[in-house]
Amino acid sequence: MSQDTLVQTVLPCSQCGREFPQSDLVHIAGNSVCADCKPAFLNRVMASGVAGSSPLARRYGGFWIRFGARMIDGLIFMVPMVIMFILFMPNFIRARSQAVDAPNFAAFAAMGLTFFVVIFIGGCCYEVLMLKYKSATVGKIACGLKVIRPDGRSLSWGICFGRWFMWNVVTAGIPYLNSVLMLVSSIMLGVDAEKRALHDRVCDTRVIYK
Ligand SMILES: [Zn+2]
Repeated sequence: MSQDTLVQTVLPCSQCGREFPQSDLVHIAGNSVCADCKPAFLNRVMASGVAGSSPLARRYGGFWIRFGARMIDGLIFMVPMVIMFILFMPNFIRARSQAVDAPNFAAFAAMGLTFFVVIFIGGCCYEVLMLKYKSATVGKIACGLKVIRPDGRSLSWGICFGRWFMWNVVTAGIPYLNSVLMLVSSIMLGVDAEKRALHDRVCDTRVIYK
């Protein structure tokens, strides 16, 4: 073996990570890409156009950071819930103590339902408006994440609503089925090169680091 082959530089392909001699890699926009990955890579570069962040520079948000962002959003929602509870509970107890007859389950159910509807609609408005105007919820902003479309177009109202609907109603909203769907969505996210959860696939969105 000649010394030449020994010192020949071996570089990883930026897309698949396999190592190749430098001469077998093409260099596109500062990335080393192998022959197998070149067509798909070029497609993505073309699709991205010039506007928005380049797909080459994107770092996709993984499961834990996105889980953290959802937790923060959940905590933010606890605040108005607790305030509502504190405001309405004394009235309710007073109303009940004045009613000498049988416990008023209808009033209790009505309050619970009102509570649920307000939180549900509030949550929808919060997420849709935040996505539309900030491309992220407060939790995602805190975690340095934002939601984008792969081609760099801005998020439409339909996309913002669809994302909220897919996660909150379809994936996480159906009792019993949600444990399965949330797990499936997490696995999809975990194994996907672009870290797409179920709602990202349906709405064609990506979650990236800003
Ligand atoms: Zn490759």
